[in-house]
Amino acid sequence: MRPALAILTLLALLALAGAAAAAPGFRVETLAPGVHAAIRTDPPGLMVDANCLFIVTDEDVVVVDAPEASAELIAALKGITDKPVSHLVNTHWHDDHVIGNATWRKAWPSIRFIAHPSLRDYLPGTGAKNRQGMIEGAPQAAAQMKKQLDAGKTLAGEPISDEERASYASDIALVAHYMNVVPGTPDVLPDLPTGGDLILQRGTRRIEIRRVGRGHTEADLVVWLPQERILASGDLVVWPVPLVGGDQSHVVDWPAALDALLALKPALIVPGHGPVQHDTVYVTQLRDLFADITRQMRDLRARGLDLDAARTAIDLADWHRRFAGDSPVRAALFRMYVAAPGLVSAWNADTQ
Ligand SMILES: [Zn+2]
Repeated sequence: MRPALAILTLLALLALAGAAAAAPGFRVETLAPGVHAAIRTDPPGLMVDANCLFIVTDEDVVVVDAPEASAELIAALKGITDKPVSHLVNTHWHDDHVIGNATWRKAWPSIRFIAHPSLRDYLPGTGAKNRQGMIEGAPQAAAQMKKQLDAGKTLAGEPISDEERASYASDIALVAHYMNVVPGTPDVLPDLPTGGDLILQRGTRRIEIRRVGRGHTEADLVVWLPQERILASGDLVVWPVPLVGGDQSHVVDWPAALDALLALKPALIVPGHGPVQHDTVYVTQLRDLFADITRQMRDLRARGLDLDAARTAIDLADWHRRFAGDSPVRAALFRMYVAAPGLVSAWNADTQ
């Protein structure tokens, strides 16, 4: 039980730290004329690669995020248009959103990279350390999952369901792709760093790069197309369970960031992970989750509980039901990202 949990925790930490990998498992959806989303098709799991957005303007292309599958994404884009890519926006610093930068630069050497200024410090520092941890730890974790698959057991030693089987198989494939792509890939830092409110007017196309506040990380940026009412949210919105890091995320501030997204009244939302959202029901649910965690943790602290006691006392049963339903994979993700680091993040905000 213990080693299994340790592996789960390692994978979770690494995934947040910037893990992610990808077989070319995405489909391209046209959201509006010239606006194409490459949406990952992997089942939910511990390993993820990010979605990507192509915005074709009168003369060029602006891309949102640079996942591990960037070589495959570039091939897909070339099947849509022969216009060059002029700008790429990294919505934050995790590897599944930045590691492809070098590949895009190789394809279009004059491309400009737009991101929050903090990436210039994060990527060579914490990011490099986390990436090294992933490179060292992920193959072992994948091997353990393979062993469990062969034995017909989950990492916790329970009989494995079909859903868990598909999820583990996907994680293993994503680790393999990660190990093919990531080691040795150089960082490409933003050369157009912005704290938000950058507007790219490319012919008739208006592209707004905004910072709506911090949530998933300090570096969260979103891309908003006001004419088409299409929003690329980065990992401020992740389906089916939000990705929360105890030290990197800001649960207490997250609801305000999501409120700012809701105020845009988007018609379509391209989340960092998960399918295109055609309404704001899920974003509202995320906002209410983080607001409730913040409220409950503050109440428990006011009653004199310490973090461990508060973790036991908090009531997340209704949220667990809403996010996980009867899915064991989603339940595991909820426990790993919400019920563990999510609470720590909320608690620490009031301790600092
Ligand atoms: Zn992320």
